[in-house]
Amino acid sequence: MKMEAVVCDAVAHLTPYLPGKPIETLQRELGLTEIIKLASNENPLGASPLAQNALTTALTELHRYPDGSGFLLRQALAGKFNLQAGQITLGNGSNDVLDLIARTFLTTGCNAVFSEQAFAIYPIVTQAVGAQARVAKAYPADHAMPYGHDLDALLAQVDEKTRLIFIANPNNPTGTWFERPALLDFLQAVPEQVVVVLDEAYTEYVEDDNFPDGLALLAQFPNLIVSRTFSKIYGLAGLRCGYAASSAEIADYLNRIRQPFNVNSLALAAATAALGDDDFVQRSAEHNRLGLKQLRDGVRALALSGLPSVANFITVDLNQVAQPVFAALLKKGVIVRPVANYGLPNHLRISVGLPEENRRCLAALAEVLA
Ligand SMILES: *Cc1c(COP(=O)(O)O)cnc(C)c1O
Repeated sequence: MKMEAVVCDAVAHLTPYLPGKPIETLQRELGLTEIIKLASNENPLGASPLAQNALTTALTELHRYPDGSGFLLRQALAGKFNLQAGQITLGNGSNDVLDLIARTFLTTGCNAVFSEQAFAIYPIVTQAVGAQARVAKAYPADHAMPYGHDLDALLAQVDEKTRLIFIANPNNPTGTWFERPALLDFLQAVPEQVVVVLDEAYTEYVEDDNFPDGLALLAQFPNLIVSRTFSKIYGLAGLRCGYAASSAEIADYLNRIRQPFNVNSLALAAATAALGDDDFVQRSAEHNRLGLKQLRDGVRALALSGLPSVANFITVDLNQVAQPVFAALLKKGVIVRPVANYGLPNHLRISVGLPEENRRCLAALAEVLA
């Protein structure tokens, strides 16, 4: 039997998520050693040392189910951000949280609005539940925020069937951002029955004083959900832990459909410890600032330009089709990220690595382009 006949139409038409190539995969394929991966916006400094210590203790309890309520982590988040624990929803990575949000608010006959060049998970979770995607034009290539979110264009896509708007600040794969006044104007203009999902996966990296803190806006906007993650600056991508902060009312709905043990015990322990590791977060942000500059200067020296970015990556315009360059870099043991699936066929996204990794990546890029 052909499964096509019975698979949900929406699922049959889904384009799967394309993850960064794992180091072991490239090792297997090309037999290379000394591979560097700058493809998934991971923390090059590794995981928070406090998190690593917490894992040692948590290992003795592997035979127990995790605390399905994530009590300690939600308490810690609430304490740190001046929220109530009841406002927090934990996820198996923030992608899980985005999926919970889609399943809570979307169904067939309604739609979600997001931008061109927005994070790839938004269309997947929207389509997976049979809802429509309404895609707003991003800013043009010659704008100060090339391919960035045009908040007015997003608003213009909202209709009576819109339940959700997904925005990321800063955005992946562009690194572009919007400042506090623009976000406030936007939130004030969004109809109150439309829920805004503000994805702040990279917010801890941003050092700009005019950059908005979504958590500080929750009290003012009951239709706002902020999602954050332990995968990026906290260095815990492999453990899968993220969270949403919202009104307690929204959190109650999200938690109704959450799998009871969606965040495992190691992830809970590590995330709770990492949250208190201000020193590691600060070191990581400083390291990133220098690395971003190293990559930006290096790219400029090759007469190329990167999109403006306040995240931990830079997306570079190669002025030519990027796929062959990506493939040639792989042969040199350098994994970066093609972004043709985001409508940017001439760009490559490069995550900030250790200084030596950045140097090697830039040197390999220079050789490939020569
Ligand atoms: C990396 C990233 C996430 C985080 O994903 P996790 O599931 O928490 O690992 C969320 N949103 C954006 C825009 C990202 O780039």
